[in-house]
Amino acid sequence: MPTRLYSDVQMLDHQPGDGHPERPARIAALLSGLRERPVPGVSWHTAREATHEELLRAHAPRHLRLLQAAEGQSVSLDPDTHTSPDSVQVARLAAGATIQAVESALAGTPAFALVRPPGHHAERDRVMGFCLINNVVAAAEAALASGLVERVLILDWDLHHGNGTQRHFEGRDDVLFFSTHRFPFYPGTGALHERGHGAGEGHTINVPLPSGVGDGDLRLAIDAVLRPAADRFRPQLVLVSAGFDPYHEDPLGDMRVSIEGFASLCDAALDIARTHAQGRIALTLEGGYNLTGLTEGVRACLEVLEGATPPPTPAPGRGERAVMEAMRAHAPLS
Ligand SMILES: [Zn+2]
Repeated sequence: MPTRLYSDVQMLDHQPGDGHPERPARIAALLSGLRERPVPGVSWHTAREATHEELLRAHAPRHLRLLQAAEGQSVSLDPDTHTSPDSVQVARLAAGATIQAVESALAGTPAFALVRPPGHHAERDRVMGFCLINNVVAAAEAALASGLVERVLILDWDLHHGNGTQRHFEGRDDVLFFSTHRFPFYPGTGALHERGHGAGEGHTINVPLPSGVGDGDLRLAIDAVLRPAADRFRPQLVLVSAGFDPYHEDPLGDMRVSIEGFASLCDAALDIARTHAQGRIALTLEGGYNLTGLTEGVRACLEVLEGATPPPTPAPGRGERAVMEAMRAHAPLS
């Protein structure tokens, strides 16, 4: 089935301020880059705003009231997170587009929500790290609320730890949250010992990595740590918090991932979706602040979703030890 893209030119209207890395040019580059040189088979679809009911599954009423109060205003809600008059509406659009991508995946068509602002740092009651609404949480909750699936895997390969997503699901066993990220680094969470609690024990898997890791390290993390956990969990839907800030030229991190590396990560996610979830997969954009890494990384993922085979992934490098440690920490007790 041809991959569906959900986006909207309105996403240019969130302006967090001059010099802010999470800038309108990110979406502008994606819209123009993918329209000038389209990936054959991919279709574009306009985003809709998430409803109040959909947002309430991800956030406390108090949080939604705070956002409502920021509508039409230019305010700083957190040291890194600022709004312009249209920002809250754009954030609802980002969450809505991610939910649309999930609805597409559930109907059998892979989808990618090309959105901003990103979402994975936003907590139930807290705006944080460029994020106003946690898009992937709202989308996973929408999938579970549909009654069509009971188990959802969220794979977060952004440079940063998806603290908001982890926090939301860490006490539950219906979502397996897997994150690779630089550590120690912003936002400070994502240590190996954070494994979920109560019914969610073992359903949070963090692979904290040193700076400078590359394609082979991240792919090994998926193959050696996520894969066995996914085989036990048997997800019925795979969601990806796709951040392109592990790119080797990204200004925010110090990772070494190439465009081919993102293709390899997407290929691994798709393989898990095909094995367990009838191919149901949806991706949503998180970070990525080098416009080439962002646009070409997304393109590489779309090509994989459309059937391309990525080139062989190189051997792991300086992240191998950390991945092996995570593998031992998450191995089932026998
Ligand atoms: Zn990030």
